[in-house]
Amino acid sequence: MIKTPVPRVGIDRIALYQGGESRIDGRSDALKLSSNENPFGVPESARAAWSDAARELHRYPSADHSDLRDAIAEVHDLNPDQVICGAGSDEVISFLCQAYGGEGTEVIHTEHGFSMYRISAMASGAAPVEVPEVERQVAVDCILDGVTDRTRLVFVANPANPTGTMIDASEVNRLARALPSDVLLVLDGAYAEYVEGFDGGAALVEARDNVVMTRTFSKIYGLGGLRVGWGYGPVHVIDNLNRVRGPFNLSKVQLSVAEAAARDRNWVRRCSKENAACREWLSRSLAAVDVPSDRSSANFILARFRDEEEANACDAVFREDGILVRKVRGYKLPDCLRITVGSESDCRRVVDSVRRFREVKK
Ligand SMILES: *Cc1c(COP(=O)(O)O)cnc(C)c1O
Repeated sequence: MIKTPVPRVGIDRIALYQGGESRIDGRSDALKLSSNENPFGVPESARAAWSDAARELHRYPSADHSDLRDAIAEVHDLNPDQVICGAGSDEVISFLCQAYGGEGTEVIHTEHGFSMYRISAMASGAAPVEVPEVERQVAVDCILDGVTDRTRLVFVANPANPTGTMIDASEVNRLARALPSDVLLVLDGAYAEYVEGFDGGAALVEARDNVVMTRTFSKIYGLGGLRVGWGYGPVHVIDNLNRVRGPFNLSKVQLSVAEAAARDRNWVRRCSKENAACREWLSRSLAAVDVPSDRSSANFILARFRDEEEANACDAVFREDGILVRKVRGYKLPDCLRITVGSESDCRRVVDSVRRFREVKK
């Protein structure tokens, strides 16, 4: 027998990330509501920065990201020395697992939690530990019950994906206080901008020594294709994350475009206002045809059906109508479909399609 190279223990058990679908065979006009992308696209400010940055591509980018960190810190009123930037918040999640996870440790995520937590934990050699939610909502007591002396990280998205639900500040504070002081609580704020007046957990980061917040340019900033996210944490944590970060993990283009977008406050205001109005209309209209959803605090809703069969039947009608939504069986929600809140006319198409689905069944 010829030996072949063998990966580290557990690597071959990592389930590949399943992204939202982006095409329907035979159609070029599919409406993509499967990845929580911004229906208004990319801000003009970011487009302009893109063409400027393209002129300097022979130069290496900044290794310390100071301009982008300063912009983020200014806009969110944070300390730039406590900010770290990555290729999407996915990369920041991976830094956290590399630096604090690893063989012999456990990483907690919740029942319907974002799948990158599990993937990154396993990639580091850590054992992912899933704890229950209660009615599609993160439950602090279930998390605390899951803590052992091997726990090093706890991941909580607030608002959560794919449920769209949120836990309030008092619960997040209770969790942070009750966790052992050597366990890092990671608050994933990918959708924080959609919640008016919400700081994503920044104040808690500043008040404690074991809380980190992650944020992204992929959602409200409309830059999922650019791949920029960031983390905010205590100086000692950021210092360790920087040790595992590649010096040139972000290109000049990524850095300048994200900086321009960060400073574009009108864009965020406009998109979050529009999203809230369309989201309320969409969830009310679907409820009226017997498709309920939990109150969402993000840019999508989780539509609930009687069972998996009904969810799949509605998905089939969506496809006939050229609409792509996200099946969430992999998130243990087989009877649900996650639908990104699009523009007003996108939402109308969704509602028309669900009405047709209800008609077909009669
Ligand atoms: C979309 C999303 C992210 C962001 O991923 P990026 O790598 O920044 O594109 C992080 N967490 C959650 C819960 C998300 O839904």
